[in-house]
Amino acid sequence: MVKVFKFGGASVKDPSAIQNVASILSRFPKDNLIVVVSAMGKTTNKLEEIVSAYQHKDEYTFLRLVEELENFHFDILHALFPDRHVKIYDIVNEVFHLLKARFKKSFSENYSYEYDQIVSLGEIISTHIINAFLVERGFSSAWVDARLLVRTDNSFQEANVDWKKTNELIGDYLEPMFALNKICVTQGFIGHTSEGMTTTLGREGSDYTAGIFAFCLQAESVTIWKDVPGMLNADPKLFEDTVLLKQISFKEAIELSYYGASVIHPKTVKPLQNKNIPLFVKSFIKPDENGTSIQEKTDFDNLVPSYILKFDQVLFTITPKDFSFLVEENLSDIFKRLAEANAKINMMQNSALSFSILVDRKRIDPEKLLAVFADSYQIRYNEGLELITIRHYDEKTISKVTENKEILVQQRTRQTARFVVKKIK
Ligand code: ASP
Ligand code: MG
Repeated sequence: MVKVFKFGGASVKDPSAIQNVASILSRFPKDNLIVVVSAMGKTTNKLEEIVSAYQHKDEYTFLRLVEELENFHFDILHALFPDRHVKIYDIVNEVFHLLKARFKKSFSENYSYEYDQIVSLGEIISTHIINAFLVERGFSSAWVDARLLVRTDNSFQEANVDWKKTNELIGDYLEPMFALNKICVTQGFIGHTSEGMTTTLGREGSDYTAGIFAFCLQAESVTIWKDVPGMLNADPKLFEDTVLLKQISFKEAIELSYYGASVIHPKTVKPLQNKNIPLFVKSFIKPDENGTSIQEKTDFDNLVPSYILKFDQVLFTITPKDFSFLVEENLSDIFKRLAEANAKINMMQNSALSFSILVDRKRIDPEKLLAVFADSYQIRYNEGLELITIRHYDEKTISKVTENKEILVQQRTRQTARFVVKKIK
C-alpha cells in the first residue's frame, strides 16, 4: 500500500526545511510514498506578479522578478548541492531559460491560460530540486510529472478533474514506477487538459492533489505536513489559546474548511471520505507528535468549539424596487443575476422585502453587482465587515469572539453560529 505525503511551500522554503523533509521521509523506510510538493516559499505569489508583468508587456519588471526568483532557487541549490556540475543545475536553468523566452511571445487573450503555463513552473522546479536532493542522499526516489497524470478540463486557474481518466493514468503509470522506486515525488496544484495544456487546480490546491492521488491509488493514508501542530480550533495568528483538534470526522473537516479554516483545501476531503482513507495533519517541526486525525467517526467532533474568521467582507442588501415580496420567482431571478455577476456567497439571509448576501470584497466589484441589478432592484452595501463562524458554539465562545464588535446579522443552527460583525472603533 502507498502512503501519500504532502509538503506545502513553507515546508520547502529553504535548504534546512528541505533537509528536514528528507529526515521525515527517512522515518518511513519500508513504505511506498507519493510525495506531493508545492512551490517553494512564496514562489507562487512571485510567479503571479511575473504573469502580470508579462501581460502588461513590462519587460523590465518581468526580468527583474524572474531574476529574483532565479536567485532564490539558485541560493537553495548552492546550499544543497555544493558540486555545481550535477544535473539539477541544468534542469533548473532550462526552466528559467524557457520562462524568459516566453516574454517574446505575445500574451494571448486568455489570461487564465497564460497564468497556468507560468505559475505551474513553481512546482516543477521545487519537485526537481527535492527529488534530486533525495536521490543524492541515497533515497530510492523518482520525479513524476503530475501534468501527465492529473487530467482536467480546460477551466484554467480552477480546473476540474476528470476522475475516470486520471484514475487510469495514475494506475497505469505509477505501478511500474513503484516496482523500481520507493518514493515518487510529484507536483501539487497542477494538471493537464486532453490537448496537453497545463492547468492549475486553484490556489492552495496541492492538498487536493494529495487527495486525488490517494483516491486513485486507494492509498493507506494521506499526511499533510504543516508548520502548525495539526488542525486547531482557531487561527493561532489571531488567538492565543488555541486547542488542537486531535480527532475529527471527514464531515467536520469539510465543514471547517468550507467555512474558511485554511489548514486544508476544501476539496481535499471528499475523495478521501469516498474511499475511507484517513487524513493526518501533522507538524513537520515535531513529526513525533500525533497531530490531527481525520476519519469516518464523528464521536469527537463536538468536544471543542472551533471558530473561523473571514475578513474584508461586503454585505449587500437587495430589495425589489416595486416592494414585491421575496417569493420563489424573484429569488430565482436574484440568484440568476448573482451567478451572472460571478458572486461567491459566504452567507445569505432574507426577510419579506429584502435579500442579503455576504461576499469577499476581493472576489467582487460592488459597482458590477449594482449594474447587474440596477433595472429592478435597489441595493445597499456595507463594507469592511467580518464573518465569524463558530462550530459547536457555546455562549462563552460567542462573547469572546464577538467582543468589541457590533453584530449586524446572526444565524444559528444546532451546530453552527455565524455572525456578520463590524469592529467598534
Ligand atoms: N503553490 C500553490 C499555491 O501557493 C499551490 C499550493 O501551495 O497548494 O497556491
Ligand atoms: Mg502554497
